[in-house]
Amino acid sequence: MIMSRVTIKDKTFETSIPETEILERVKQVANRINKDFEGKTPLFLAVLNGSFMYASDLMKNITIPCEISFVKLASYEGTTSTGAIKEVIGLNNDISGREVIIVEDIVDTGATMKRMLETLGTRNPAGLHICTLLLKPGKLAVPLNIEYAAFEIPNDFIVGYGLDYDQEGRNLRDIYTLVKD
Ligand code: 5GP
Ligand code: MG
Ligand code: MG
Repeated sequence: MIMSRVTIKDKTFETSIPETEILERVKQVANRINKDFEGKTPLFLAVLNGSFMYASDLMKNITIPCEISFVKLASYEGTTSTGAIKEVIGLNNDISGREVIIVEDIVDTGATMKRMLETLGTRNPAGLHICTLLLKPGKLAVPLNIEYAAFEIPNDFIVGYGLDYDQEGRNLRDIYTLVKD
């Protein structure tokens, strides 16, 4: 693999997963979903901003009837002492009785995904399924049934392929990892 370095703001990153490898794995995940949801019409719910590139490449390989929609997680400071609370916004689909596949860029501690599951769970879906591009098993602090994870990665901070460092780097085609100094 050709290693290259990029600088984003004050940080240096180096190639970790090249685009060719990402696309290969994404296709494999899509093929599993095509099999697992045959005869159903799942609703893919992609969580913006981070999952936009993954969602796009994933959907190009889905061959069963399906829908895709997008939600966002808005953070705001709570009035209680708990600090940042994340609220799911933009969900205007009726998900009751639907097989919902949540498309995320990364599951780190799992707190965000737990929040998603709680919010969506109140709307009576037939099933809620997690389809994340990246998973950091070493950081996962919440029990989650993650059915689809394209890559399991170490605890290091990564950017590219939709993921940002301070809002930059989402446009990079490959995934890069932070170079520790
Ligand atoms: P969690 O709630 O699972 O701890 O964190 C999930 C969110 O943290 C992700 O949706 C993502 O925005 C951010 N995150 C966690 N790890 C990384 C990482 O290595 N790189 C980037 N760019 N964001 C990360
Ligand atoms: Mg995300
Ligand atoms: Mg971010």
